Amino acid sequence: MRTAVVCGAGGFIGGHLVERLKREGYWVRGVDIKRPEFRRSAADEFLKLDLRMPRNCARVVYLLDGRPVDEVYQLAADMGGMGFIHSAECEIMHNSMLINVHMTDAAARAGVPRYFFSSSVCVYRDMKPGEPEMREEEAIPAHPDNEYGWEKLYSERMAQAYGRRFGMKVRIARFQNCYGPYGTWRGGREKAPAALCRKVALAADGGEVEIWGDGSAVRSYTYVDDMVDGIFRLMHSDLEGAVNIGCPQYVTVLELLECIASVAGKKVVPKSVPGPVGVQSRNFSNERIYSIGWRSQFDLRRGIEQTYPWIAEQVRLALRRGETL
Ligand code: NAD
Repeated sequence: MRTAVVCGAGGFIGGHLVERLKREGYWVRGVDIKRPEFRRSAADEFLKLDLRMPRNCARVVYLLDGRPVDEVYQLAADMGGMGFIHSAECEIMHNSMLINVHMTDAAARAGVPRYFFSSSVCVYRDMKPGEPEMREEEAIPAHPDNEYGWEKLYSERMAQAYGRRFGMKVRIARFQNCYGPYGTWRGGREKAPAALCRKVALAADGGEVEIWGDGSAVRSYTYVDDMVDGIFRLMHSDLEGAVNIGCPQYVTVLELLECIASVAGKKVVPKSVPGPVGVQSRNFSNERIYSIGWRSQFDLRRGIEQTYPWIAEQVRLALRRGETL
């Protein structure tokens, strides 16, 4: 039986990845500083550990018989949407960097054969609407919009350096925005799709929904099952270097809101308020991930149809408990 460690298994993508690995027949150890918030982990073993500590990283990469696990998926990060990225830059650089420094080192020294690192398209510079697709190598010369992107870029390079020195097969994905059920939907770390699903669920039919900025920022949103499929395929491929993974459908924030409102069966009126908007536009090449057979199966509408009902239900339950949202 193949064995895997998923770091960040208490989080959104990590939790879905554990489920996929179980379906593929793996023995899975989940590791996170916190337990999953919304459901039980599907992992065979779940260790609640702080991966900023080198001794914890060294511990999680070994099986009971002293052999290293076959695969490490590193998705643990101090992480959130634009609001968090712009207000917690020290925490992001300090905490995520320590996790990556120690996990990469521990996995390589233990002789783990395959190591996956979850990077982000935040490593790229800002783009203008209508610019041609950017390929992976165009991240250099680097000019990320935020410190989160710089941390990812450094950690990518560190993982690759360890891969070269120790013969560990390193696979790196640069995720576009990911959304789906069982992700953070309130509290300040949620990303735009979850935040807008919550706001639409709370809004009256015909009511106003606040959006940060004028709603013209262009993004693509990738449904979590597609993302996890990309991670799994990439890990078992021969693709070296960073690989973009993202749905090829690009929409403005206003179009995202329209899609959510339509799935909710409501009419809403966008109300622009000041807030951290991030980059203006995105458009990335998927040629590398396409070359190993990956295609996005969920367009935005289909993904929101899976996501909105779950968030609307969380909102309903929270209101019933008397919580303020
Ligand atoms: P998430 O916040 O839901 O999951 C990250 C997990 O890491 C959390 O459960 C958190 O508790 C854990 N963690 C944080 N500090 C830790 C520590 N010191 N020790 C152990 N665990 C710790 O985020 P996610 O959306 O599932 O993202 C997973 C990965 O994908 C991250 O590396 C993130 O940067 C990357 N990514 C995500 C997106 C997205 O849209 N969700 C986009 C680009 C990149």
